[in-house]
Amino acid sequence: MRKINIFDTTLRDGEQSAGVNLNFTEKLEIARQLERLNVDIIEAGFPAASKGDFASVAEIAREIKGCSVTGLARSVLTDIDAAWEALKHGAEPRLHLFIATSPIHRIHKLKQTKEEVIETAVRTVQYAAAKFPVIQWSAEDACRTELDFLAEIVEEVIKAGAKVINIPDTVGYISPQEYGNIFTYLREHVPSINKIELSAHCHDDLGMSIANSLAAVSAGASQVEGTINGIGERAGNAALEEFAVALHIRKDFYEAETRMNLKEISRTSSLVSKLTGMAVPANKAVVGRNAFAHESGIHQDGVLKEKTTYEIISPELVGLQNNTMVLGKHSGRHAFRNRLNEIGLSVPENEINHLFTVFKELADRKKEMTDDDLAAIILEEKLSKEQQYYRLDSIQVQYGTNQVPTATVTLSGCQNERIQEASTGSGSIEALYNTLEKCMDETASLLDYRIQSVGAGRDALAQVYVKLVFGGIETSGRGLAQDVLEASAKAYINAVNRVLYMEETKKIAVTG
Ligand SMILES: [Zn+2]
Repeated sequence: MRKINIFDTTLRDGEQSAGVNLNFTEKLEIARQLERLNVDIIEAGFPAASKGDFASVAEIAREIKGCSVTGLARSVLTDIDAAWEALKHGAEPRLHLFIATSPIHRIHKLKQTKEEVIETAVRTVQYAAAKFPVIQWSAEDACRTELDFLAEIVEEVIKAGAKVINIPDTVGYISPQEYGNIFTYLREHVPSINKIELSAHCHDDLGMSIANSLAAVSAGASQVEGTINGIGERAGNAALEEFAVALHIRKDFYEAETRMNLKEISRTSSLVSKLTGMAVPANKAVVGRNAFAHESGIHQDGVLKEKTTYEIISPELVGLQNNTMVLGKHSGRHAFRNRLNEIGLSVPENEINHLFTVFKELADRKKEMTDDDLAAIILEEKLSKEQQYYRLDSIQVQYGTNQVPTATVTLSGCQNERIQEASTGSGSIEALYNTLEKCMDETASLLDYRIQSVGAGRDALAQVYVKLVFGGIETSGRGLAQDVLEASAKAYINAVNRVLYMEETKKIAVTG
């Protein structure tokens, strides 16, 4: 069996999804879960992009030791320096260096000739090789690059010190057969090809990212890149959980496997979905809510008689469990701590007491406490430590069928000042959001509002997701509470806090 390395870019390419911006704590939480999932490489961000990116890449490199941590850099020396500063404390510092190679990008974006692109690529790889033990080099828009030129530049960067060569389908344009042909061509035309690993990076614009990744594996790629739930620019990246399960189920055909701990897939998927606010479609392969539901009578009958009649993947394989009641108000501190360990939530010992109090308060009001509830409240508590420009003190909303809905809100502002406003709207949420807008004295337009219960039951926690444009910046936010209105207010404030944090640590745009 060949081993295929999994390169996860949820925190870099995935975070480039429209409206997604993860904060420091959220990125760290995802990185820890990716380590449990046992991916081989985590691309933690783009250190030169912003102060915020730098800090989170540095912290992830320091903390995560079970896999290699990498960061993206353009082919400029200052990007490489920033990446080194962020990654140097990692277990195996690895640089992901890229330059565009296609004629479209060379002519319109870089305004460089083929020779100039090769010269820049070689010079920057050599510069980076003096610092980093491992350099991955990517030919941006490789799939629309002339094959002979691609082979030429790949040979040159290998000679300059690159250890992994990535062939990204940056725009999601290639078909499986063509993509496989590129790998075959490179293996036949690049003299030094046996010294390096070949990597596939596919986007899903035409719905072919998984098929393309598998075609690359058949043609000799030994690394596949992608994101959890397939999030990413435009239609997203190859979904790593789909790729890993496809390879596992069809190892008879591909004769290759990953080191991924498949049992962590379900938990990883729901964590990423929760923190990014990007819902997983019910019919999505491997992780969708309906992925294992057999609806037709004929299928149900078959599965009851013999599972394999209609079931090729078992829910247990990806760690899907029945979410039963696990803790209640009589559960003690010991049971609480044990359960957190069992479901893989890392909580420092000095925070257990505080979290146990939060748990008890909720358990008094809510009969059943499931793993989902625990995960939701723990995450919420951890995240409440993030930079908060506005904090919710109280809300009061009046609604009656023949009355004008009115909301009163009290917030604490950046300098701990007390802000109180009241406003009306044609519904409760509108009244609430009009009031919040007045409190913050900045126009916000709501793009999306979604409410979801955490688990089942009338007393379930409410999780609200919003997408809004605040001060010209699109962002998302989420809020958790037992009451839907309080959760709605928290989601709005969370989104605004993210914009204010982003403005403090300005970002530059990147592709790749
Ligand atoms: Zn990409």
